[in-house]
Amino acid sequence: MMTAAPLAAKIKQSVSEDVAQLKRDSGISPKLVAFLIGTDPVSRTYVDLKKTDCAEVGILSEVRDVSSSTYSSADVIAAIKDVNGDSGVHAVIPQMPFNGKVSEEELFSTLSPDKDADGLTPFRLGKLVRSEYSLENSLLPCTPKGIALLCKYYNVPIEGSDVVIVGRSTLVGEPLRKLLQDMNATVTCCHTRTNNLSERLKTADVIVAASGRPPEMFGESGFRLKSSMVKEGCAVISVGVRRDPSSGKMLFDVEISSLKGKCAYLTPNTGGVGVMTRACLLQNTVIAAKFSRNS
Ligand code: NAP
Repeated sequence: MMTAAPLAAKIKQSVSEDVAQLKRDSGISPKLVAFLIGTDPVSRTYVDLKKTDCAEVGILSEVRDVSSSTYSSADVIAAIKDVNGDSGVHAVIPQMPFNGKVSEEELFSTLSPDKDADGLTPFRLGKLVRSEYSLENSLLPCTPKGIALLCKYYNVPIEGSDVVIVGRSTLVGEPLRKLLQDMNATVTCCHTRTNNLSERLKTADVIVAASGRPPEMFGESGFRLKSSMVKEGCAVISVGVRRDPSSGKMLFDVEISSLKGKCAYLTPNTGGVGVMTRACLLQNTVIAAKFSRNS
C-alpha cells in the first residue's frame, strides 16, 4: 500500500525547517490565503483543513470567504488583485469548484503566477508544458505533483510504462499526463468519449483513477475501478472521490478491497493522494515565499 504518511511527514518536516529559516534569515513569515468561492459544502471543509495544516508547520494562513451572493464576480477579481499586491501574502489558493461564481479563465489570468499555490495560472501551466520546472522546487498543481512524488517515493516503475489516466482536467489529468510523460512514461488521458476504455485499462501498467463519478450517483456513466478491470501486478492510484449528498457517504473511484490482491502498488482511498495534495500545498507556499525573498 502506497500510504502517504511517511512522505508527507518528510515534506512537512522540510517545510517547517524552511519556514524557520525564512523567518530567521529574511524576516519573512510565509502566509497562504485560501479563497472560498463556490458554495460546495466540502469546499469549506477543505479550506479549514488547509488552515490546520499551515498551523502545524508554522505557515500563517487566512480564509477569505467570498462565497455569499453579496460578492459579485468583479468583487472576487478585485479580492485577487488585492492579495497580488499584498507583500504579506506569499501564496494564494482559490478553492475549486467555483460553481459559476467567477470565470476560471479570468481568475487564473488575474492571479500573480508568483503567488499561484496550485500552479494553475497560464504562466505556470506553460512552464509545465515546456518542461521548465523541477518537481520539488516549482509551483506545480498540488495533486499531480503529489502523485508524481508518491510514485517516486515508492519506486513505482514509471519509465517506459503505459499509464492510463481516467480524467483530462486542468486540475488533475492533464498536468499529471505531462509530469509522468516527463518521467518517460507513455501516457493516455481517457475521458467520457474514450473508445474501448476497458481494453486500455486491461493493458495499462499504471492506472490513475480521477473521474469523480461514482456509479451510485451517475449510474451507467459513472466509473469505478475493480480487480476484473486491471492486469495482475499493475499500479493503481486512487484520486476520484465525491460525497453523496443524500447519504453523506464518500464514494471513491477505486474499489480497494478487490484490487488489493492484484496490484503491485495501490494508494489507499484515504491517506493517499489527498494527504499528498495537502503536503504539496505547504511545499508550494514555501516555494512562493522564497520568490518574495528574491524579488
Ligand atoms: P473533473 O474536472 O470533473 O474531471 C473529471 C474527468 O473524468 C473528466 O475528464 C471526465 O471526462 C472524466 N470522466 C468522468 N466520468 C468518466 C467515465 N465514466 N469514464 C471515463 N472518464 C470519465 O474533475 P477533477 O477536478 O479532475 O477531479 C477528479 C476527481 O478527483 C474528483 O472526484 C475530485 O474530487 C478528485 N480530486 C481529489 C483530490 C485529492 O486530493 N484526493 C484532488 C483533486 C481532485 P470528460 O472530460 O469527457 O468530462
